Amino acid sequence: MIQPTLYSAATTSYRNFSPVGDILVLAVSIVLIILLAVSFVKKDKGFRLFRAMLSIVDIAAMLNIIMHQLIDLRPVPVGAVYVLRFLYHLELFSLMFLFACYIMEFISLAGKQKRFYMFLGNIVLVLVTVFDGLGYFLPYGFRMTTSGQIHEGTNFFVVAYVFYVLLIIWLLHRFRERSIPPIRWGITMTFVFCVVLQGVQGMFRQMSFTTIAFMFPIIAFMFLLHSNPYNQETGAVNEGSFNNTMRDAYSRKRHLVLMSMHLLDATTEINFADEEMRFELFRFFVKTLRKASLFEVSGNRLIIVFDEANNDKADERVEALKKAFDALYDRFKKDFKSVFLRTDDRLGKNNDYVEMIEFMEGRTGVNNYAWVTEKDIDDFERKQFIVSQLRDIAEKMDLDDERVLAFCQPVYNVERRVYDTAEALMRLKLPEIGMVFPDQFIPVAEQYDLIHPLSLIILNKTCKAVKGFMESNLALRRISVNFSMQEVHDINFCEDIIGVIYVNEIPYDKIAIELTESRNDEDFELVKEKIADLKEFGIKFYLDDFGTGYSNMERIMELPFDIIKFDRSLVIGAGRNKDSEYMVNTFADMFDKLDYRVLFEGVEDESDERRCIRMYAKYLQGYKYSRPIPIEELRGFLGKEYDEAV
Ligand code: C2E
Ligand code: CA
Ligand code: CA
Repeated sequence: MIQPTLYSAATTSYRNFSPVGDILVLAVSIVLIILLAVSFVKKDKGFRLFRAMLSIVDIAAMLNIIMHQLIDLRPVPVGAVYVLRFLYHLELFSLMFLFACYIMEFISLAGKQKRFYMFLGNIVLVLVTVFDGLGYFLPYGFRMTTSGQIHEGTNFFVVAYVFYVLLIIWLLHRFRERSIPPIRWGITMTFVFCVVLQGVQGMFRQMSFTTIAFMFPIIAFMFLLHSNPYNQETGAVNEGSFNNTMRDAYSRKRHLVLMSMHLLDATTEINFADEEMRFELFRFFVKTLRKASLFEVSGNRLIIVFDEANNDKADERVEALKKAFDALYDRFKKDFKSVFLRTDDRLGKNNDYVEMIEFMEGRTGVNNYAWVTEKDIDDFERKQFIVSQLRDIAEKMDLDDERVLAFCQPVYNVERRVYDTAEALMRLKLPEIGMVFPDQFIPVAEQYDLIHPLSLIILNKTCKAVKGFMESNLALRRISVNFSMQEVHDINFCEDIIGVIYVNEIPYDKIAIELTESRNDEDFELVKEKIADLKEFGIKFYLDDFGTGYSNMERIMELPFDIIKFDRSLVIGAGRNKDSEYMVNTFADMFDKLDYRVLFEGVEDESDERRCIRMYAKYLQGYKYSRPIPIEELRGFLGKEYDEAV
């Protein structure tokens, strides 16, 4: 066996060691552990790895300190030094490997790619460990004598270190679409800095800073990926952590009680101008937060969460919360809606709880507290199911989708005394839950931006029906189809409509479009343009729901509508007192003189009818003539009236 040359101890980096770096590692990790315990950190999937890394770096620091204490002894306990040095390196190699695993978790690497990179990481871990260990018995390795002379040998540590740093940077940038730039670059720069630090200490034949270079990535991870900025005013943490907490509760079957507090007129966050209220609110939360957490989620909602098991008197606690908040309300009169609920097995996916709370607020009055009941959760589930079906319908985009039903309501033509137009109305027929009416899905479809596909399906089905009526020589002027104002924003709005009518081979003027007024200023020019484009084809436009809420006459006049649909509320109002009738009559007269046609909606009986006819009605629509019927049944109305008209 070849004897390695032994250098004098003074020239090796082992001599230039000071435990200060490792002691710093221990000190910093104690601070981190305290921070983890008292603050609310994001405990997502990577968090277990994060904790493992923190423990390993501590063990490494301790091993390193002990090893160097032993090196200073005379005679040196060589065997023990070898073992400690081996374990120290093993900890560091593992740490590098864990860093890589953590990054893989962070970028959600999965399947084949994950298996490949894990395999690579594992192989290198095994190889460097084996070669490092064998070094004690082979000429290339580390050697030491009992008198303290050291031969440093080939350094596998550097090889492993550089490999894993390159792997991590490669992963981050190869899958760059999976992380946001600040985090990606934050981590990259941290590792680059660590490599530089190792290089600099090498230049000075130092080894005091080896372990601490492993601490920096951990600090970076905590800062970039696990820290949760508190709202300093309230101590609340953000929605991401709320969802994490709820998911965690779900998987660990913890029973929590949630109180959501939505301050309706809070502008941004809980940023009241009123100093005193802010102070009181803060006191409220501080008092409340013993054994509870506070979250701030979208739309100015604060959610207090506490463990039911740890609060055997959960109901009492809820009552105390209400009382305390009522006192605040009495003093400051800021409107609120408050929702209480217990964790439920049916909730737990994604942001179910936030959505459940929003849903519940929709059915809760202002300045009220509401407990979520079983039935509320049933209804919420039904809504979620409808949303998933709407998503599926939008995704499949089958113009003949059988879940979307075209109904219609015949419209009576006062002058010609026939039914020669109709309004298409949508229904859904969904698996398991059956028929769903517009009030239960139109607002939701609008909210989730899923309305346009539905409208196109109804348009297509309407065109098909029109085609059938024409082939039977029935007298039909047109059928109006409802579109939502937000659809007009779709760049393809006109092309989509023209396309569907075109493929059905019917004249464009057999279709009309109903729109409701929008109070949005940006809308206006756009709507004007699109209406003008479609009118070129002969498509007529109806202004829907005139008289509900907001009406800007100037605006209405500027848009080239053909027919104004007076809402049922005007029909009812006019029947109630003379002043209202006078007002409705004046509007109808004006529209009539300006060459618009007036249509009254919601005509339910003879007296409604008489009144509307007095008020310049050109068209009448309502239960008096027909309830909404499957569009095919319109045939009956057309056929009969056609005979009469001829
Ligand atoms: P709308 O456009 O104002 O439709 C008229 C609604 O009034 C229909 O309700 C109809 O059934 C109801 N109605 C008709 N006659 C009477 C009556 O005499 N008395 C009373 N009280 N109500 C009457 P429906 O079908 O439930 O539709 C509700 C709303 O849903 C519609 O109001 C419309 O805003 C929306 N909607 C329906 N189908 C569609 C569609 O295909 N696309 C879009 N975007 N919205 C639709
Ligand atoms: Ca309508
Ligand atoms: Ca209407």
